Amino acid sequence: MKTPLSKEEFALIRKAGSILRDCMEELSKEIREGVNTKTLEQKADEFMASRNAKAAFKGYKGFPASICASRNNVVVHGIPSEKEVLRDGDIISIDVGAEYEGYFADSAKTFVVGKVSKEAERLISVTQEALARGIEMAKSGNHVKDISRAIQSFVESNGFNVVRTFVGHGIGRKIHEAPEVPNFCQPHKGRLLEDGAVLAIEPMVNAGTSDVRILDDGWTAVTEDGRLSAHFEHTVIINGRKPEIIT
Ligand code: MG
Ligand code: MG
Repeated sequence: MKTPLSKEEFALIRKAGSILRDCMEELSKEIREGVNTKTLEQKADEFMASRNAKAAFKGYKGFPASICASRNNVVVHGIPSEKEVLRDGDIISIDVGAEYEGYFADSAKTFVVGKVSKEAERLISVTQEALARGIEMAKSGNHVKDISRAIQSFVESNGFNVVRTFVGHGIGRKIHEAPEVPNFCQPHKGRLLEDGAVLAIEPMVNAGTSDVRILDDGWTAVTEDGRLSAHFEHTVIINGRKPEIIT
């Protein structure tokens, strides 16, 4: 068992979370037709530096960029590139981790570029609502599986599928910690949720099959059937009956 987080450590995690929330807000203003995803990465780096923080993904397990920019059929871990220019009708998932004085928060959001299809709109709203329903279950006395079940059942009742290859996670002193927080039910209940636990809850939802495959760059995860994927994530602190969303 790890040592419980101190008051000071919680303050630093909350600070990382608030910087990240502001960073996502800044990035949302940049998302439009004609912008390339490398520019979004540069904006994120500049913003983090301006707040004495840094983007946590760069170099993590060898990931080559500061943010993940995952467009249309890309599920996660899209690598920003000058060659990837946003077009009217795209959806783009931006995933960012923030490190502040050695403490971490993690967040993701799928944005629309211009006018998108009805299916894209519905996929995004279902994924966002799935996250909200997962977060509602993040309270002491519940188990990880209660979060997983809430997400999976909402997604599937809307005719979409949760990704199984990637999962949510504990966070705080490191960007990824135990426990895993899957977006699908496993036979066991998973860890009992206790006050003070910090979780990154992050449904990734595919319009079609839940299967993904990794491109030759070793990172970019795309839907096996080429259909759209959306991703929303917040970092939450479990705090009695009401989870505290810090991102
Ligand atoms: Mg995460
Ligand atoms: Mg993330």
